[in-house]
Amino acid sequence: MSFWNSDLLRLTLAVFFAAITSIFTGHFLYLLLLICIIYILRQAMLLNQIKHWLQSGAKADHPAHSGIWDEIYYHIFRIKKTNKKRKKQLSRIIEQFRKSTAALPDAVVVLGEYDEIAWFNNAAKSILGLKKRDKGQRIPNLIRTPAFIEFLKKKDPDAILSIISPANGQITLQIKIVTYDKNAHLLVAHDISSLKNIERMRKNFVDNISHELRTPLTVLKGYLETLEDMEDEYSPLLTHSLRQMNNQTLRMQCLVDDLLLLAKLETQKINNYCVEVKPLLTQICRESAALEQLDNRVELFIDADINIFGNEQELRSAFSNLIVNALKYSPEESIVTVQWHQSGSSVILDITDLGEGIPELEIHKITERFYRVDVQREQEKRGTGLGLAIVKHVLARHDAQLKISSQLGKGSCFSCVFPKERFC
Ligand code: ADP
Repeated sequence: MSFWNSDLLRLTLAVFFAAITSIFTGHFLYLLLLICIIYILRQAMLLNQIKHWLQSGAKADHPAHSGIWDEIYYHIFRIKKTNKKRKKQLSRIIEQFRKSTAALPDAVVVLGEYDEIAWFNNAAKSILGLKKRDKGQRIPNLIRTPAFIEFLKKKDPDAILSIISPANGQITLQIKIVTYDKNAHLLVAHDISSLKNIERMRKNFVDNISHELRTPLTVLKGYLETLEDMEDEYSPLLTHSLRQMNNQTLRMQCLVDDLLLLAKLETQKINNYCVEVKPLLTQICRESAALEQLDNRVELFIDADINIFGNEQELRSAFSNLIVNALKYSPEESIVTVQWHQSGSSVILDITDLGEGIPELEIHKITERFYRVDVQREQEKRGTGLGLAIVKHVLARHDAQLKISSQLGKGSCFSCVFPKERFC
């Protein structure tokens, strides 16, 4: 029954009753006051009832009432029912989310403001060795690898760190930190052991095959040279064929040498000492120009009296690869500038040519193995396609960076940037 049908009706009846009674008694106002007091007391009692009902969690059935109170109870009950339904749905979604993240093959750890562990999935137990009791602990206290601690401090969204799993020395992990809210981070660790194994197998294969090819190539080259020495006795066709065979064997030898050097750079430990840069660059420039049979194409400027803590053989290989490329990919009469100078806290070797340049979209690709900008264009230049890959590896082993700027048709500048930690 609605408010008008019950409460107001009751009030109207009471006032009507007071009016009738007052005809005999003459105390209409007193009676009205009495009715009001009774009405207010009743409402207060009902309010108290609803308060107790709500305090008890509104679990029990609500007391039976009529009028406005019945409607209030009904609406509260409806809101409660909808909320209960929503809560159920939400907990089902949360449960599904938990189950799916728990089943992820990658380890996922939710980190709080101070890198404390808030939650982790099952994979984090096996891959990172986390235990239930570790919840709330700061993760750098559990994974103490210095590289990991440094990585965690930076929280660079683009950075990826490879470390050996703290739980299993056979597992290599690739770790990424994702910031999903202010002061809330997700640590994701992916097992890359199988990729590493394939990579190791590939390296071993290239290393072995290069070693195996070296001896037969030396023998072949020896015989070809002997045969070439007797070229007076041959027809022009045979002489030409022998020259071609000799050139190709030489090319293959260079390829094998470069592959072996790359394998060495990837696997062997570097032997560092103070390398004097000025005599090294002077010699490389002289040798490179001599190779081109043009002495005056390379101009060397030594503007910094700084030496580098590193490996001379490796630096020689990197620098000469860059200088030979600059000569190779620029016109014969153009100048190549080699400049050793200091800039801020770095010392830089700039090798600038006025050659054909590199298309912008290909600049980041040319340090990949066997990548050549225009195979047709470079057919007659006959490089191995491994030179810049070697340069990149050597520089990385010296904590240095290779920066390339180039303009098509105008020339290129290859810069080797060494940090001050390498000065000596
Ligand atoms: P390559 O043996 O072919 O020279 P590199 O690894 O040394 O192999 O170089 C890769 C490619 O980068 C080259 O094939 C060439 O296309 C491009 N390149 C390298 N240096 C230069 C340069 N100074 N000017 C223009 N292109 C260059």
